[in-house]
Parts: sequence; structure tokens; C-alpha cells
Amino acid sequence: MTEPYVIKMPQLSDTMTEGVVVSWEKAVGDKIERGDIVATVETDKAIMDVEVFRDGYLSGPLAAIDSTVPVGEALALLVSSADDVRLGDAAPQAGKLAESQQPGVAAASRQATAPGTVAAPEAASYTITMPQLSDTMTEGVVVSWEKLVGARIKRGTVVATVETDKAIMDVEVFHEGYLSGPVAAVDATVPVGGAMAYLVDSKDQVIDEEAVPSTKSAETSTAAVAAEMSAVPAASAPSVSVSGVTPAPRPQGRGATPYARGIATRRGIDLNTVSASGPGGVITAADVQGAQPASGLAAAAGFPQVDVPGDGRPMNKLEKATSDAMTASLSMPTFRVTTSIKLGGLIRASKAQGASVTVTIAKACALAMREFPNMNWCYQPQDKLVERSGVDIGMAVAADGGGLVVPVLRACESRELDELNRDWKDLVGRARKRRLKPDEYTGSTFQISNMGMFGVSHFDAIATPGIAAILAISADTEQGSPFTITADHRVVNGADVAMYLDSLKTLIEQPQLWMGPSGPAVAEGDWDYDVVVVGGGPGGEDCARDLAGHGMKVALVNDAPLPGGECLWRGCIPSKAWRAAADRIRDRLDDDHLGISSGNSRLDWGKLEATRRKVLETRGDMALKTDKGVKIKYIQGFGRFVDGHTLFIDTSGNNDDPHSRARVADQPQGENVSFGCAVIATGAPPFVPPIPGAIEGLGEGGGVLTSDTVWTLDKQPKKLVVIGGGAIGLEMAQIFQDFGAQVTLLEAQDRILAEVEPEIAKQLTAVLNDDPRLTVHTSVQIERISGRAGAVSIKYKDQAGKAHTIKVEHVIMGTGKRPVLDGLDLDKAGVVSENSVIKADARCRTNVAHIFAIGDVIGGLMLAHTAAQQGRVAAATILGEDMKYEQDKDCGVIFTRPEAAFVGLSLEQARAAGIDAAEVKVPMNIDAKAMINNERHGMIKIVADKKTQRIIGVHLLADHADTLIGEAVMMVSGNMTLEQVGRAIHPHPTQTELFGELARRLSSRLRRSARVKAK
Ligand SMILES: Cc1cc2nc3c(=O)[nH]c(=O)nc-3n(C[C@H](O)[C@H](O)[C@H](O)COP(=O)(O)OP(=O)(O)OC[C@H]3O[C@@H](n4cnc5c(N)ncnc54)[C@H](O)[C@@H]3O)c2cc1C
Repeated sequence: MTEPYVIKMPQLSDTMTEGVVVSWEKAVGDKIERGDIVATVETDKAIMDVEVFRDGYLSGPLAAIDSTVPVGEALALLVSSADDVRLGDAAPQAGKLAESQQPGVAAASRQATAPGTVAAPEAASYTITMPQLSDTMTEGVVVSWEKLVGARIKRGTVVATVETDKAIMDVEVFHEGYLSGPVAAVDATVPVGGAMAYLVDSKDQVIDEEAVPSTKSAETSTAAVAAEMSAVPAASAPSVSVSGVTPAPRPQGRGATPYARGIATRRGIDLNTVSASGPGGVITAADVQGAQPASGLAAAAGFPQVDVPGDGRPMNKLEKATSDAMTASLSMPTFRVTTSIKLGGLIRASKAQGASVTVTIAKACALAMREFPNMNWCYQPQDKLVERSGVDIGMAVAADGGGLVVPVLRACESRELDELNRDWKDLVGRARKRRLKPDEYTGSTFQISNMGMFGVSHFDAIATPGIAAILAISADTEQGSPFTITADHRVVNGADVAMYLDSLKTLIEQPQLWMGPSGPAVAEGDWDYDVVVVGGGPGGEDCARDLAGHGMKVALVNDAPLPGGECLWRGCIPSKAWRAAADRIRDRLDDDHLGISSGNSRLDWGKLEATRRKVLETRGDMALKTDKGVKIKYIQGFGRFVDGHTLFIDTSGNNDDPHSRARVADQPQGENVSFGCAVIATGAPPFVPPIPGAIEGLGEGGGVLTSDTVWTLDKQPKKLVVIGGGAIGLEMAQIFQDFGAQVTLLEAQDRILAEVEPEIAKQLTAVLNDDPRLTVHTSVQIERISGRAGAVSIKYKDQAGKAHTIKVEHVIMGTGKRPVLDGLDLDKAGVVSENSVIKADARCRTNVAHIFAIGDVIGGLMLAHTAAQQGRVAAATILGEDMKYEQDKDCGVIFTRPEAAFVGLSLEQARAAGIDAAEVKVPMNIDAKAMINNERHGMIKIVADKKTQRIIGVHLLADHADTLIGEAVMMVSGNMTLEQVGRAIHPHPTQTELFGELARRLSSRLRRSARVKAK
């Protein structure tokens, strides 16, 4: 065999560094001629063809569709003869090939003969075969022909319906032609893969005949399929004949050759227990020959056959499938655990939300699995556990005319109740008529059987292979309804199930914990204030204003003379005032690019500081006037809890300077106020880690500054170290470099900006290092800070362990923020915290029903708009409205140049959340506006859910990203699809056009790859 030729990702544009595989236009094993297009790939600009300029045969491993391959790296191989072709065991795409996509099977479906004595018509261009519509289906019964012989058939036409072992289903055809006989008769049983009818190219070739049913031809058809399968390259050809047997059910989630399935039937082997050696994980006949008969279903055939008197009728398919599953369940070592759960609250809450109680229980079951994920796993022979994160719950429904169907409600762990409820309604309607598709009733990961409505006092259910547990719900009584779990002891133990049931009990008996309020939260009582909000930053202010706007009597307790919190006085606003000045200096540097000559910029620190302070004071005054105007009682003082309904307001530390943080005096003085509800919005001051010398350097005259004290600088520093590569550290570092200082940024982690998409963060690091006076060092270890302001020395070790010392005027600590809870006396109100953060749910409720917490004090994204949104969420919950904070739709901007910005999920985060997502990106340097302005750094990325085509994340590194992100926020928060964004008219020439371009590109890629997958 000569060396194979490697088909590589071509460089199809100047800027292209990698491409995404959109489709394979040729199949593995196809003969390739010079100039053939074998695949299409998406570059940074468009979807383009990959042509091959050699002859040969396409061979695996193939790069998977949707995979990103760097320019110059292998996409596939071209081999010189058909014998050398490999399916490509290493490549996910090859591994995923369904049997029907494999060359051998496709050929078989073209050649299989009809189940009758009449041979296939010579002119047949395509054979319509009995599809395999469920894992266990081996044959189907023709229920109806939806098209008449001679009818013109278009792609996607439903030509017939067939009854499988589970339901009546449509047979769709994805080819064009005229329907021709011999057609399988209505009521005829046709084996999977056997011919049902044919397509011919012209009307005069149509044969109007019915196939005469015959077992022999059905066998021939199976054998034909098997014979073709043996021709699959690299699969070992078995030497056993299997004609005359019904193939064994396919193994779950894997393929098996028809030969292998035939032999499995003969030998009584469960294919789920067999390891595969065939291409793409397909089980071959040799694998089955080497396997031992399994204990489950097949072994059951070896049970003593008891002679039962009477004249038995054969079971129908549904009865047989149920019987097989029940026999298979005997292979499971199960045990049962029961607890009583009161359903009253859940029934009321479900009614209030218009949700079915069954769906609400399913959602509760999924939520309880967060703590006990193994309830959702299953045992896989031999001695393997399948760990699953998606909770797909099968729930039994009685079908019209008898029998049970078990539709599966997918992704119960992540989808909202209303969405699940909509799906369930649809599933139940179709399940009753037995018109579900296979993927709608197979593959559940947990099951529920609810006989409560029949009034049964107690029952248990039978777990079957593929799940670890099934829940049986009996009728509600005064003590509650017995919830009995039958569980597989190989996966879960008794304690797991007991604790799981306990957690489920809490969720069901206290639905308000996760289903939202069922009325206003202010407790009955004679309170001084309906609500007291502690902390007057963006979180507290927005919350107080919403509540006051709804007529609540609200006090806003803040330890400063003016509201605004960190955001106004020490954070967002002052830092952006400095950033604005730095931008002016930076923009001047690009004047020359557009032919403008200007002199050197010079910063007047005094003027900048006067402007900054004026802006802050003006906005603080405005905020206080608005608060008073909407009838909020603003009280200056430090709040601490006395009990669950009383706050002491300590005024001993009050002063008139809003620019610095207030300090409480030793001798408390003030007043108690009572409240119906409280909202804690006290923020998080800068955190200084225990680096030797850091805390000592914070005092007056010390050289260590934080985001609280940097505003006291009386002149711009010339040399600085910034410790910490988060948003605050990076912004400060670049602002001071733009002001003319020499800045070294030291970060202990191996990357900057943990919350930012990795590729964006990496590019930003490179851009920052290109700034003339700024250097970013990651993976450093700071050893000591010493000296006084003006002469500070920092000792650190670099990534290689080499020691360095830098001497600067100041060190700015950008080492994060952490709430300080000590002064609040939370324990007196019973509020729980963990690692210095108050625990709050998506509705901003703490563990105490009438006390809420929002903003920096609850951790997560510590950003002003996050705090404000959570303030509105808390207000809505207090008012009895349904609103949640959704971190997956939150956003942020890092105000460097270029700015980094994000909204929603990155590809990594989406995949970790179980979403099948794809991303598309474009570099900024191809944009006309970016070229004109010399703002070429960065990129835009869009992440979309492949299934729904909704945009779930947008990530930017671009100048003006702070404005561009606004459109992206609307895409993500509005659940917009790629099509909607792609079809929107974006103004030209603006950078927003890139959003439309990216959306169209990803939408086209997904369409094309879906088409290819469907082929
Ligand atoms: C340098 C810097 C730049 C930043 N830039 C941005 C940015 O560009 N965009 C962005 O979104 N975010 C930015 N932030 C973060 C933002 O400032 C905070 O996330 C936001 O202010 C948090 O709001 P909050 O309401 O939770 O708390 P805070 O704004 O901290 O307000 C809490 C208030 O409560 C007071 N308080 C504390 N304890 C008590 C008590 N017991 N009784 C009474 N009052 C009390 C505090 O003094 C304060 O006034 C920046 C932060 C810094 C430091």
C-alpha cells in the first residue's frame, strides 16, 4: 500500500487560521477524481469548498462535522485502492456513522427485494425499505399507504404508515420519483431493511402490483442486507449463515451488523453485553461469536418453561415488548424505599402556574438529582456505569385501546416548567394515539409511574435495564402520598435513595423554594416599614425604587451621605472618567493614520480629578433627590440585625464625605426599625490576600492601594505594579499606561479574566502586551511587598521559578472583592452565609423567607447591572410577581482598549451545560470601519444552540464593544434565533453588520451539515 495522501484544511483566505467542517460531500470509500469537491468548510469569511486534485478513494479518519481544524491539519485521507479505505475509528464523525449511512447498508437498501414473489422492477431508482424506528424494532406491519402507486413523490413525503413494536409511525422518503410496485400489502409484516415499494424515474416505468407476502423473501432481504454489511471495508466478514432468523435487537447507542444480530439471536446473546471491534464501534459477527450469552433477556429464555393450560393467543407487539422488558428486569438487583410526601402545596402551586402536577413532580425529581446525580445513571454490562447529566424522565400514559406508552420528557434538569408543560401536553396527546416518534419514547434516564389518581394506597414499580430507579406514586392521604423508589443496587445504595427522597420531599412540600412566589412576601404585622433595604448601591437603589413605585413603604439604609455605593463613588463611574481621559490620549495616537497632525497630549491631573469628583457629586445628589421624590425614606447609618424583623441603624460613623467608605465608631448610637421584609445589598469591598507586606502597606503613607483608595492619588504615578488580572486590575493597569506610567501586571493564575471566553482573554493578553509601557505576567508567585508610597518593592517568582524584584511608586491590588458580613449580625436574623457570601436563590431569597440578598454580597458576577437586576428580581418576588435572575443571560464589559465584552454562554460553558452548541467567529480586521479607524484588534463570536438555532452567547474583543454588546444582549435575552438576526437589516457601514453576517454564516453551516447528516 502506498502512503495515503492527507487532505488538509486549506487556507482559503489571507486571514484564515482554522476552518469548521460543514459537510462531507463524499462518503468514505467513494472514488475521488481530480477536482472533486470532497467537503465544505467554513472560514472566517464564508462557507467554501474543499477540492482535491488527486485521484484515489476517500478514507477515514474523517474530521467530524462541526469540528474546528487548523489550517494545514488533516481533514481526511486519500488512499490508492478501495481495499485500503478505513472508516476512521479515531474520528468522531466516522464513529458516529449510522448503519444506514455506511456504504454497505445504503447499497443493501437499494438492492433488497420486495417481500413478495415479484422481483424489484428493473427501472427502480430507489427501494423504499422498512425503516428501523426503534431500538428494538426488527420488523413492522404496513398500516396504510398514504400515496397511491404512480404518485409523484418529493423529498420528505410520507408514503406509508407502519406499526412498530411501540407505535404507528410515518415512513418518509428522501428521494424523488414515482411510487412503483410491487408494494407490500397493508397488514403485511416486513422485516427492517426489507423492501416496501420502489421509486422509478418516470410514470411509464411504474409497476402497479402488490407483493405477495412470503417469509422466504423476507429472509432473503435480511440476508441481502447482511451480505452487503460484510462488504463494509475493514469489518471482518463472518462465515456463518444467519438466514431464517429474526435479528436480535440493536444494542443501545451502538451499531451491530445484521450478521452479528442474526448470530446473537441464534446464540441468545444480548448485544448490549458485547464489546465491539468493528469500525465506528459497530459490533461484528466475530464479536458475537466470542461473547458469552448474557444473563438478562436472552438468558431468560433458559428459564424453566412451565406448561400452562389453555389456548394462548400470540402477544401483540406492544405486549411482547413489555414482556421482554419485564423479563430483562430480572437481571437487576433492586430494592425499594418508601417515604410519604404531602402534595397539597405542590398541587396548589402547579395550579397557580397552569402546570400539570405530573410535570411539576418530574421537575422536582430532576432538581433533587443535582445533589444525587447517580439516581440518573445506569448500569451497563459488563461492570460499567453510564453517568448522565441530562435528566430525561419517562412517564407512563395509558394508550387509547389499552396498553401503556412511556413518553420521555427531555432535559427536565435545565428547562423551565412552562416549556416542559407544553412539551408534555403534546407528548401525551400523541402517546394516547400511539403516534410518537422513537426518540420520544426511548432512552429515559429515570421513570415515574403515578397511580395516585386511581386511589391505590401503595404500589411499587419495576425498574428495567437502562435506568437506575423508577418512582411509584400512590394516592395522597393525610400523612401524604407514598413515594416508592425501586432502585438498582449496582448504581445507588439505600442511603442514596433515602437522602434523595428526603430532598425530593423538601422540594415538593415547599414548592415556593423553586417554583416562585404564590403571593406577596411581606409578612402580616405592624411594621415601621414594609421593606428595609440595607445598602444604597445600584442593587439597593433599584430594589427600593421598584418597591416604592408599587406603593410599598420603604427605607433605604446606607452608611454614606449620598446613595450610589461603590459603583458611583469608587468603581464604575470614577474608573470610566479616568478611562475617558485615557481614551482621548490613545485616540490621538491614531490621528496620523488619517492624516491629521496634532501635538503631544498632556494630562492635567488636577483638572481630570476635579471633573471626576464633580460628576460623582452631581450624580449622587441627583440620585438622592430621585429617591426622596419617589418617597423612599433614605436613612444614613450602618444597619445590623437585631432579630428577624428588626434592624438597628448605627449612626456613630456618619460623616459628610461621600467619596470614601464610612467607618463605624466604637460606641454605637442610633435607632431600631422594624420591617416586614428586608433586602441585604451591602456590596463587597476589595479583598487583599495575605501576601506578606500587603495588608501592612494599606495604611496611610503605605505604598499599597486598592480600588477604595486609589482615588486619593494626588498626582499620576510614573511607575506601578498592579496585582491581579481581573477586570479592575486590567482596567487600572492600562489606564495608567495610557497616562504615561510604566506598568507591570502580575497575575497568579495562568490566564487573565477568568469570567471571559478563553480565546478572547488570550487575544486581549497579547494586545495588552503590545502596549508600549505595559507588561502582563501570568503564573507568578508574589513573595513580598515592602517600602512606603513612592518607593515600594515587590518580590515575585516568574513561571519558571526565577526571582525578580521591581521597584515602583505604588502597588494597586486588583485581587478581587469579598463581602464583609461580620458587622451585619446575620445570625440574629437566622440568615445563612457560606464562604463570606450570603446564599440566595435565583429569586434572591435567602434561607429566611422574608429576607432577601442581592448584588455583590451574594457573589457570582460582581457587576453593577447584575446588582441592579437582582434588586428588581427581589422587588418583584416581594410583590408576589414571578421573576428570576438568569446568570446565563447576564453580561459584562471589561473597559480596556479594545474592550472585552460578553453576554450569555461561551461554547465551553454551553457544552458543560449539556447544550449541543456551535460557534462562529470573525476577526475585526476584516471590517471596513475597523480598518478606517485603525481599530483592527479582536474578534466577535456568536454561540448558538444547534437544535433551536437560538443565540445563547456573544463574545467580543473590539473597540466600541461596550456599545456593540447592547445588540448582543437583546439577541440573548430575547432568545433570538440565527435566522432572526441574519434577516435583520443592519446599517452600513457599521460593525453591527458583522452580527448579521455571522448569524447568516452559522445558520447556513448548520443547515448544510443537517442536510448532509440526513442524507
Ligand atoms: C474600580 C472598579 C470599577 C468597576 N467598574 C465596573 C463597571 O465598569 N461595570 C460594572 O458593572 N461594575 C463595575 N464595578 C463593580 C460595581 O461597582 C459593583 O459590582 C457594584 O457597585 C455592586 O453593587 P451593590 O449594590 O451590590 O453594592 P455596592 O455598590 O457596594 O453598594 C453597597 C452599599 O452599601 C453600603 N453598606 C455596606 N454595609 C452596610 C451596612 N451594614 N449598612 C448600611 N450600608 C452599608 C456600602 O457602603 C455601599 O454604599 C467596578 C468596581 C470597581 C471597584
